[in-house]
Amino acid sequence: MTATATKPDAGGGASHETALPIIDHWIDGAANGGASDRFGLVYNPSLGAPSARVRFAAAADVDSAVEAATRAFDGWSRTGLGKRATVLFKFRELVERHADELTRCIVREHGKVLADARGEVQRGLEVVEFACGIPHLSKGEFSENVSTNVDSYSIRQPLGVVAGITPFNFPVMVPMWMYPIAIAAGNAFILKPSEKDPSASLLVAELWREAGLPAGVFSVVNGDQVAVERILEHPGIAGVSFVGSTPIARHIYETATAHGKRVQALGGAKNHMVVLPDADMELAADSAVNAAFGSAGERCMAISVTVAVGDAADRLVPLIAQRMRAIRVGDGLDPKSDMGPLVTKQHMERVRRYVDEGIAAGASLDADGRAAAPDNHGFFLGPCLFDHVRSDMSIYRDEIFGPVLSVVRAASYDDAVGLVNGNPYANGVAIFTNDGGAARRFQNEVQVGMVGINVPIPVPMAYYSFGGWKASLFGDAHVHGMEGVKFYTRGKVVTARWPDPSHRGKNLGFPT
Ligand code: NAD
Repeated sequence: MTATATKPDAGGGASHETALPIIDHWIDGAANGGASDRFGLVYNPSLGAPSARVRFAAAADVDSAVEAATRAFDGWSRTGLGKRATVLFKFRELVERHADELTRCIVREHGKVLADARGEVQRGLEVVEFACGIPHLSKGEFSENVSTNVDSYSIRQPLGVVAGITPFNFPVMVPMWMYPIAIAAGNAFILKPSEKDPSASLLVAELWREAGLPAGVFSVVNGDQVAVERILEHPGIAGVSFVGSTPIARHIYETATAHGKRVQALGGAKNHMVVLPDADMELAADSAVNAAFGSAGERCMAISVTVAVGDAADRLVPLIAQRMRAIRVGDGLDPKSDMGPLVTKQHMERVRRYVDEGIAAGASLDADGRAAAPDNHGFFLGPCLFDHVRSDMSIYRDEIFGPVLSVVRAASYDDAVGLVNGNPYANGVAIFTNDGGAARRFQNEVQVGMVGINVPIPVPMAYYSFGGWKASLFGDAHVHGMEGVKFYTRGKVVTARWPDPSHRGKNLGFPT
């Protein structure tokens, strides 16, 4: 597979930038240069240097993608379920065959380490596998003889052209939460990936073509707010799936619903891990470190707050600090690295400012990652651990989205649950305990969408649905699983009478 959508730059931009390859759009089954001469820089965060320029679409490029998708929808939505599933199976095979290429593409533009990126591709593939079951997933219900000679049945039909707008932190997996199910259900899908790591989506577009998906059913429009705003208002787009930060998720939800679209908008997170005094502290320390510092904390399911109940902190914090010393920070492509850089220089500087604020607010910085970074211009920040964090501090309140773990000490289980439920975010949460009754009470009382019991990152499998509550989700539908199938289809109920040949007479009464 070659990245046919990437070609040498023909003009525009500063001279050192014009030598960079250009990442195009993918419209109507082929790479497309579009109508705009605006570009963004794509970086290799491990080197701190730009690697490509990505086109920023004009509104007219979104319009072209919608036109092609609308044409394609007509034939694709009428394609038989078995044929659609065959294309999905072929796509699944191709993603698996090209998993290494996709993995390296993620590492080069996002910065996460190889093993993590490989895991991302795998979790995305699981949604493709789920979508292969579309003939079964889209079955309706049937009731015979609801009245004499009258049958009722429900069917689900695709929405039409739908769009996905996705974040930088999972450039393969998060779009795969959306388009396999949308396409399997008979829709045409337009993806607006993050402008920070767009290349993987172009590789995916080529795989769809090779799998036999008709041109126009899957498109990629690269860009910024200009593309997003056109998607939100375009009358030809029936539904929008969004994953990203909370302020943008709220904007997407409000704007797209005002334009009559079906919307699911997943937002940011501040995930707590409650550790009760009876927990297995070795397991809790391993889990906290893996969940806080994997992918440099740039995961919506990362643990960013450990709530240690009673005397748990005195035993837990030294175990966490000890494990953190063994984390090797380095280039994501180096198999020896455990943790890569942050995605951009601006983001690295923002996370560092939070570390400064935590110190100034009086939290105790027990592990300082600011000096741990390799000296090679990459956007590195080593893992940081704050103890004695209070809920009024910015390091507690805000989503930092970096390798910073805060320990809050709570006097009781009730205080811990009160803290979690008082937080505006409600994506994921975990409890560590050996008391089944306490865990059961927690799963019932906690006001969060995804709950782990002795599991730090409770990401549901593809056949369940993923999503938070409160400021972590705007809209009613979570992604993938049956909620994903429902989101990308709408129900219709048919009531049919096939009178017996002996039927006679009239009846003007209300049907009962
Ligand atoms: P982001 O909100 O900055 O960007 C997400 C998408 O929105 C991108 O495609 C971007 O181009 C677009 N966008 C950004 N600013 C915009 C604007 N002003 N108007 C219109 N569109 C705009 O998010 P990010 O930094 O790429 O990703 C990190 C965030 O995503 C974190 O907050 C993280 O918690 C969240 N996230 C949430 C989940 C979840 O399942 N809830 C999963 C992954 C990431």
